[in-house]
Formats: sequence, structure tokens, C-alpha cells
Amino acid sequence: PLLPPGARVFVAGHRGLVGSAVARVLTAEGYQVLTRDRAALDLRDAERTARRLREMRPDAVVLAAAKVGGIMANKTQPVPFLEDNLRIQLSVIAGAHAAGVPRLLFLGSSCIYPKHAPQPITEEALLTGALEPTNEPYALAKIAGIAQIRAYREQHGASYISAMPTNLYGPGDNFDLETSHVLPALIRRFHEAERDGAERVVLWGSGTPRREFLHVDDLARACLLLLRSYDADSPVNVGCGEDLTIAALAETVADVVGFAGAIEWDTDRPDGTPRKLLDVSRLSKLGFHPEIPLREGIRETYDWWLRAGSGA
Ligand code: GDP
Repeated sequence: PLLPPGARVFVAGHRGLVGSAVARVLTAEGYQVLTRDRAALDLRDAERTARRLREMRPDAVVLAAAKVGGIMANKTQPVPFLEDNLRIQLSVIAGAHAAGVPRLLFLGSSCIYPKHAPQPITEEALLTGALEPTNEPYALAKIAGIAQIRAYREQHGASYISAMPTNLYGPGDNFDLETSHVLPALIRRFHEAERDGAERVVLWGSGTPRREFLHVDDLARACLLLLRSYDADSPVNVGCGEDLTIAALAETVADVVGFAGAIEWDTDRPDGTPRKLLDVSRLSKLGFHPEIPLREGIRETYDWWLRAGSGA
């Protein structure tokens, strides 16, 4: 089997939104999750990463470690978004191969696709056009990761695969207003406005861009399905197949959080790509269907953030 029962799986990035969800699902399904804290292992360090992988000798690796962030973080820190991601990918993928790890799942992002790709975006759209400038360094690093996975398949026959998730959210997300993605930012902005009795909340851009959102627990289940059953060159899109405008998302979040004031738009802030809805037919054919409706997922994420103490 591609992932033997009880397999030992090294999850790179286990403290992050994606890695922590993948680790939870793997553990619940009886796999043995191996991790290394950042203090013990800097994944950008190729030599040490290779050494640790040789020591651990996992049956599989999930590469969920990445420098990630929202539209402003990408704009203000293009260097680490390019370099940290390239270095992490080089270390972990090459290190896994050198250690004889037979199976690896690399996680990318829907921003690898061209800005003006036909919607919904199929996996075939990769490298058919120019990228969205606000996250081009990040996207280029992730495209290099896909190329690296394909190269190991081609040259060494490795069972290494790539998945491209849409915009993710859920427990463990980053709620820092300067660096977060839109969904946690909206939860926080509406919560604080409601708490402070503010009459209005100002959001970024025009509110017209469309985005698709997937709960990270759904992504984690998709990752497990892919690890168990998928072994081909093409990356696989992971999404829910539906999108909505940022304005509609804002109304939903305001409603869940209980903010009844006005919503205004700061059009000096960037909109980013107009739309990036993934075509998820390939994943559906493998038998995956997301289970967590957006509104329910937002409520659960809001509750998690309140419990985590950040909402105080
Ligand atoms: P993107 O999907 O790569 O563009 O990244 P984001 O999740 O950061 O932003 C998605 C969209 O939400 C963009 O059009 C932003 O301008 C918009 N947006 C509105 N308000 C906010 C906010 O407070 N924070 C963030 N990150 N985005 C916001």
C-alpha cells in the first residue's frame, strides 16, 4: 500500500494551521506522527534536516511547513516568502529522498495558477500565464516545489505527490491583523468592534474579489486520502468547489460574531487576484467531499480563538 497501516509519518510544520490538522487526523487514524520543533530543527537547514530524516527514517513525510501569510505580509516580505519556502522544500524533499523515505506529500497553494486562469481552475492551468503580482514570490517557490516533486518522480521513480489547497481557515490560524489571511482578520475585526461598541469596521480592498474557503480539517482528510490512494505527476486541487465575494464573507462573519454596525472598504488596500476558484473534479473522483459548511466552520474557528484567549 502507498501508506501502510500504522505508518510512521513525519509532519513538517506540525505547529501550523495545516500541519496540526494533518497530525490530528493521522493520529486519529492510527498512524504514528513524528515531529521536530522549530527550536530543535530549522527546516531551512538542508544538512541538518537530511540528518534528522536519516535518523527518523519515517515511512512518509507530509511537507506542511511554509512561510505563509495574507496579502499584506506577502507584499511587505517578498524575500522570506520566496527564500524560506524554496529552502524548506529543497531541504525536506531532497532530505527525504536521501533518507530513502518512500512516500511524500507536498502542499502548495491555489495562488500557483495564473491570475487570469479560466474558472474554475483545473490542474492543467499551471504555467499557462502570468501570476498575480501580490503573491508572486510565494507562488514561484511553490511552483518550484511542484517541479521538484515531478523531478524526483521522473528521475528516481519516487512516490512523491503534490496537493494544491484553496484558501484555508480553522483552529490554529494566525489572527495577527497585519499578516493574517482575510477570514481570521474579519473574525478579529468584528469581534473587537462589537466589544468596543464601534459603529463601523473598515476592511481592505473593494470587497468584490471572490475567494473559496476550506476548513483545514477537510483539507487534512483530503491529505490522508491522497497519501493512501494517489500516485501521479499532476498536483491535485483541494477545495470545496464554491466561492463567494469578500463582501459576502464579511456579512457572514459579522453575523456569526454578532456585529451589526456598518462595513466600509479601504480601496487603497490591494484586492489581489479577482477570483481563484479551484476545479476539484480530480479530487471528487477519488471520493473526497468536504464536510464542514462555511458558516459552521467560521463559528467553530471563532469559538476556538475565544478559548485560545486571544479574544480577551
Ligand atoms: P489572498 O487570497 O492571497 O488575496 O489573501 P488574503 O486572504 O489576505 O486576502 C483576500 C482578500 O480579502 C483580498 O481582496 C483582501 O484585500 C481582502 N481583505 C479585506 N479585509 C481584509 C483584512 O482585514 N485582512 C486581509 N488579509 N485581507 C482582507
